Amino acid sequence: MFDYQPNAQCLANKTILVTGAGDGIGKQAALSYAQHGATVILLGRTVAKLERVYDEIVAAGYPEPAIIPLDMKGATQQNYQDMTNTIIDQFGKLDGALLNASILGELTPFANIARQIWDDVMQVNLNAQFYLAQALLPALQKAEASSLLFTTSGVGNKGRAFWGPYSISKFATEGMMQVIADEYEDSGLRCNAINPGATDTKMRQTAFPAEDKTKIATAQDIMPAYLYLMSDDSREVNGQRINAQGN
Ligand code: NDP
Repeated sequence: MFDYQPNAQCLANKTILVTGAGDGIGKQAALSYAQHGATVILLGRTVAKLERVYDEIVAAGYPEPAIIPLDMKGATQQNYQDMTNTIIDQFGKLDGALLNASILGELTPFANIARQIWDDVMQVNLNAQFYLAQALLPALQKAEASSLLFTTSGVGNKGRAFWGPYSISKFATEGMMQVIADEYEDSGLRCNAINPGATDTKMRQTAFPAEDKTKIATAQDIMPAYLYLMSDDSREVNGQRINAQGN
């Protein structure tokens, strides 16, 4: 595992947006960020799931979160710009954004990739990441130091048979991260990508239905890297691909 011992309040006074905050790794990241003092903005498509995370955070006595229901498959650039304006109005700045939500599509031979699956995966995993990142930049730049964190995968820098659209979308995500990191190198904004590694979630179960779940990491296990990359301890880290389960 990535070796980091966060201070209990390492994210105090920070406002952090998490996409896909209703389930899986995004849900755990939202809970962990709130536990460490952050006000989290929960973005996702299933409102009931976001409300459950909201309730859990409030019940634990962490800072009260905000909810943004948004389906990234259909959302427009204007939706993301409006969202950013609301964030700036309400919070004044954004200290971090974990762009975590993505879809797997279908595992299938390249020759059989259906156009609709290709389009959906590219819409959620790539276009929406571009719209989000571009829209959020002004809010992130209002913070003295801010962290824009994309989510990649083991197939995001090495292609693998049958992982077509998903793998290709993650390569593009890493490219986007590197471009932004280079452009903002001398600013307070840092931009990186995190690779969670095999983690027990719905997506992982869909990809590997026969796997023994007890042999892989839980979302909680991988939180040290997620906390590190949002805390000021990672201020000098930029343009990196970080493995949450170590190298
Ligand atoms: P899950 O499928 O468990 O969770 C994905 C989350 O994203 C859900 O909350 C889901 O919402 C949300 N989401 C999906 N589509 C949309 C959409 N159109 N609009 C808004 N929100 C959406 O995935 P994981 O937690 O496993 O994955 C999180 C990230 O980690 C992904 O980027 C994934 O590629 C990456 N990853 C995961 C690995 C693993 O082993 N789990 C390994 C490598 C990378 P809802 O709950 O409503 O469906």
